[in-house]
Amino acid sequence: VFIAFEGGEGAGKTTQSRLAAIWLRDHGFEVVTTREPGATKTGMRLRALLLDKETTGLSDRAETLLYAADRADHVANVIRPAMDRGAIVVSDRFVDSSLAYQGYGRRQPVGEIAQVNSWATAGLVPDLTVLLELPPEDGLGRITGQADRIESEPYDFHDRVLRGFRALAEADPDRYLILDASRPQAEISREIQDRIRAILPD
Ligand code: C5P
Ligand code: MG
Repeated sequence: VFIAFEGGEGAGKTTQSRLAAIWLRDHGFEVVTTREPGATKTGMRLRALLLDKETTGLSDRAETLLYAADRADHVANVIRPAMDRGAIVVSDRFVDSSLAYQGYGRRQPVGEIAQVNSWATAGLVPDLTVLLELPPEDGLGRITGQADRIESEPYDFHDRVLRGFRALAEADPDRYLILDASRPQAEISREIQDRIRAILPD
């Protein structure tokens, strides 16, 4: 079972993925929590390159490919091996982040980015994707002070990213749980647990 958490800056993906993992472990499942970019040794180096985009002048296409490379390594070295031994994998971001940020955000063709990522991940698609929605002004306010984050993008970039996530989720309602991330943390995690329960093996 593979569960991804998606959303914009400061929406609570990290917090909610950790809460979901704790809940799953309490129910006796082996859980691997992971994140993108930067879950592997190579991924950490790619993350440093990606988050330094402005100073290095990294081009948009190269950015897209480096995210895909990070993800390919993530799937091959972390996600697939864990799934193969029966663990539940919970990831903070996956392919939809590239479709939303590099596609909708940077206005690159979403279909082509999906193809690149389909190859990079050998076709892996999450069983459930939790989308945490928060207006950019609220999310950006929550993360100020976290030094390695991209906060330099203009408001309308983050707005396109959020609209992108929503468009992806609405196109595939069976796979997504869309949640208003401004609600209380405990309420959100309960709804996530209800949805996860429905996809667990008996
Ligand atoms: O999720 P996390 O905050 O660690 O992501 C690090 C940064 O990378 C974020 O600021 C996010 O905007 C950016 N990002 C991106 N494109 C992706 C994934 C993350 O621009 N595909
Ligand atoms: Mg986070």
